[in-house]
Amino acid sequence: MRKGAITRDGVLKAVAEYDELGREGFLSKYGYKPATGYFLVHEERTYDSKAIAGVAHQFDQGRVLRPDELSGGRSHAARWLARLGFVIRSSRSPDWTRDEIILACDLAMTNGWKRLEFDDPRVIELSTLLQTMPIHPEELRNELFRNPNGVARKTVDITSRHPDYRGKPTNGNALDVEVMNDFLVRPAEMAEVARRIRHGLVSGDFLDLLPEAEEEDDYGAPEGRLLLRHHRSRERNKALRKKKIDAVLRQGRQLACEACGFDFEQVYGDRGSGYIECHHVVPLHEAGERRTRLNDLALICANCHRMIHRRAPWPTPGELRASIEQKHAADRRAAEVLARPRRAAEERMPNP
Ligand SMILES: [Zn+2]
Ligand SMILES: [Zn+2]
Repeated sequence: MRKGAITRDGVLKAVAEYDELGREGFLSKYGYKPATGYFLVHEERTYDSKAIAGVAHQFDQGRVLRPDELSGGRSHAARWLARLGFVIRSSRSPDWTRDEIILACDLAMTNGWKRLEFDDPRVIELSTLLQTMPIHPEELRNELFRNPNGVARKTVDITSRHPDYRGKPTNGNALDVEVMNDFLVRPAEMAEVARRIRHGLVSGDFLDLLPEAEEEDDYGAPEGRLLLRHHRSRERNKALRKKKIDAVLRQGRQLACEACGFDFEQVYGDRGSGYIECHHVVPLHEAGERRTRLNDLALICANCHRMIHRRAPWPTPGELRASIEQKHAADRRAAEVLARPRRAAEERMPNP
């Protein structure tokens, strides 16, 4: 069973059964709830995309997917169907991501945390820019996607949560408030983050950066996904990595993790020889357009690299090393405390 490996033919069979049973009959037969977000449009009729994709698995993979085995949206049903060339209609715009909210907050801040109107040239400009962002797949956008009205509404959601706002707050979401707080605490830094994101979009630097699997999990980057993608693509630059490794070897240094000392060759032998990851130590919003220098890169093992990126703010390799040492020291003290009563008991024992 391969999830998502469905064919056009399987989908059409599911569509035919849907037509035959009717919406209610089809959904209740397979235990699916009515879709709220994404619909498949086929021959001028609309279908619940999640249920259709789940049932298509019966024809292509031998069994129907249970509703809890897939999502209706961009990561599963809608994406699979779109990939097969079907038309997907989304009934609501995709949620705003951190990158988008950063740009909206930046605009709100330059406007003194006052809302902007839909016909404001700055709103129209931001709307155009958001539409070029390589974050939401084309097939999941509807015709209202990030239009000037939506952008203006976002500035209302944001500014009405500002601490100085005296009216009734609108129902903006938690992420809006989180990003706005970042701006309130570190205005210059966040303005710079916004500037870097804009620059990357306008210059086309971000266009060929593909989304990574890690984006879905807990990699922490207050600067948003686009700068993180840019950062990671630099770290993985093979030529740069090789230069860094060569430089370290030329200095007669060992190829070991700068945080924990792990040496791949020492542990894995030949297989690990010459292997180490590079971590770019300059913060995302500072690295910006400048070219990466060898000194910007730290040699780091895969575990430590993951731990650094796991939560923002990212520790430097030195800071990570200090926290590893601290943990070791605490563990040693705890072990000594445990060993103490035993030692005392041994001392009390009479000599044979
Ligand atoms: Zn390490
Ligand atoms: Zn890194």
